[in-house]
Amino acid sequence: MNFWEWYDRQIYTAKQYDVPIYELDWLVLRLTDLDKLALRLRSPNITQKITPELLTKLDQLWQKRLSDRLPVQYLAGSLTWRDLELQVTPAVLIPRPETELIVDIIAEHCQNEIYQNGTWVDLGTGSGAIAIALAQHFPQAQIHAVDFSESALEIAKINANINTQKIKFHHGSWFEPLAKLNLQNKLAGIVSNPPYIPSNEVLHLQPEVTNHEPHSALDGGQDGLDDIRELVDAAPAYLISGGFWIIEMMAGQAEIVRSLLQINGKYKNIQIHQDYSGIERFISAQFN
Ligand code: GLN
Repeated sequence: MNFWEWYDRQIYTAKQYDVPIYELDWLVLRLTDLDKLALRLRSPNITQKITPELLTKLDQLWQKRLSDRLPVQYLAGSLTWRDLELQVTPAVLIPRPETELIVDIIAEHCQNEIYQNGTWVDLGTGSGAIAIALAQHFPQAQIHAVDFSESALEIAKINANINTQKIKFHHGSWFEPLAKLNLQNKLAGIVSNPPYIPSNEVLHLQPEVTNHEPHSALDGGQDGLDDIRELVDAAPAYLISGGFWIIEMMAGQAEIVRSLLQINGKYKNIQIHQDYSGIERFISAQFN
């Protein structure tokens, strides 16, 4: 079977298994050195470029995508997020395209040198995506990244080594490692994409997510807000005056999180930010 015969057959199986066809293209482009245009134009040269071994490998991975509902990013073991090449395994949440924007919001709101030269923390760093993007955006800053999962930290460190050397990684729960480092009243910024999905919903997401992604990165307790409450309550002790606080959240949580910040009383400039789909996805504030 040549590449195009295989490809056409997989377009058909993708439909049967209700898997989006762009994922087939994604996997092919990730595993080969083909470019999008050649694929789109159905260049006949492709059949020569793809060796039988490569085609076998593609087929094995794609069959796993269909039958085990494994996300293509785990199958390939890597992805591009912003301009970063990141490795991913089922030990880490797959960085989502919508999360890319959190870095742009920080860039826009934190141009002052207290942020540029300050100390930042990414809590629950997972693959390290946000921390690494921050380190690149703020070359003068000190960046810390925390995760409770040792296996996630291993991946984050690999990703940091590929992209930037300057992040300090710490194992522990939320602010715990920061307390040991005496970072109280020292942080210019705190950023987090915490688990925020209510526990009973985690079991009913797409099978790709529910069956393969780490629940510790998704499950935010009964109402989804357990970790967000912790982030709201504990952050003021660590931020400098004017320090920036930003998290990702789920559609529908913005007003509750806004009132958590207001009731806390130590925050000002509370702002809700939409993602590109118009969902209220991020909320930021400053320590008063
Ligand atoms: N955005 C992720 C999802 O849709 C959830 C990430 C999180 O809980 N922080 O599955």
